[in-house]
Amino acid sequence: MPGRESGASGQVASAMLDTLGLTVLERGWLSANQAVFRAHGATPATVVDTGFCRHAEQTLALIDQALGGEPVGRIVNTHLHSDHCGGNEALQRRGDIETWIPASSMLAVKRWDEAALTYRLTDQPCPRFVAEHALVPGECIVLGEASWQIHAAPGHDMDAVMLFEPQTRTLIAGDALWEQRLAIIFPELVGEYGFGPARATLSLVERLQPRAVLPGHGRPFGDVAQALASSRERVAAFERHPERHAQHAARALLVFHLLEVRQAGFDELVDWMRLAPIYRIVVQRAGLDETGARVWAGGHVRRLVDDGVLVQHGDQVSVQPQAQ
Ligand SMILES: [Zn+2]
Repeated sequence: MPGRESGASGQVASAMLDTLGLTVLERGWLSANQAVFRAHGATPATVVDTGFCRHAEQTLALIDQALGGEPVGRIVNTHLHSDHCGGNEALQRRGDIETWIPASSMLAVKRWDEAALTYRLTDQPCPRFVAEHALVPGECIVLGEASWQIHAAPGHDMDAVMLFEPQTRTLIAGDALWEQRLAIIFPELVGEYGFGPARATLSLVERLQPRAVLPGHGRPFGDVAQALASSRERVAAFERHPERHAQHAARALLVFHLLEVRQAGFDELVDWMRLAPIYRIVVQRAGLDETGARVWAGGHVRRLVDDGVLVQHGDQVSVQPQAQ
């Protein structure tokens, strides 16, 4: 798992990022990365994705540092998972900022429909924010000095978008493409079709031929062919064995929860898993009763401890520091 809280840009040439007026803030696992654009003419300084709410203060400080104190005038979100828009509200509280989100999420945000926005499903907090502008696939948005294409990127999240700058061939991928791993295909967990759209989004990335990808998590990278190949392999494997995808998701969401609460009792974690709606759906689909669900949840916690991802002291479980 990525574990940095710095402004590093990995191997992607800093000259290119400079041309785009862009600084990449590579964050730890709980917060997604930020792409921070300097203001240019009438275009306000902009941040793409704002991290998880518990890190909001740190996110704002990192953005301020990247902009040298210049005020942020605009928020853009690739999608509305809690680790990508959890800093929106804190930025909006400063005032004088506009917020752009994927067009298909506009209604859910207007109504603050926490079910549609997945916060209830995953039991992840996200402070309420407002959004005035829609990112419409097929249109463009000016960020820094360049015009970026907006592309639909369904799969991990059916409403997600990616942003592509054709001159430098830079792609802000959100969670549609990571360097090594594959993000959870959320629709599949609730019985909707996600693998096909995820595959189509990978094909779209291939057609765009990016030279550099800024992923939602992990360092920016240039070996796009390798990333596409490993993502495709994972999608195909999960498609053959959807239950393995559900297991993978259960582990990833449990680690996320434990990173958020830092430490919890073993039984407390099992209870949390039994009650979180996303697990209830997974358990129901696997045909398990209450006892079976408890055994299933306990098995996951135990396996993560055995694998060294989690560490247990007495009854208390936390995330192994190097796994963060
Ligand atoms: Zn996501």
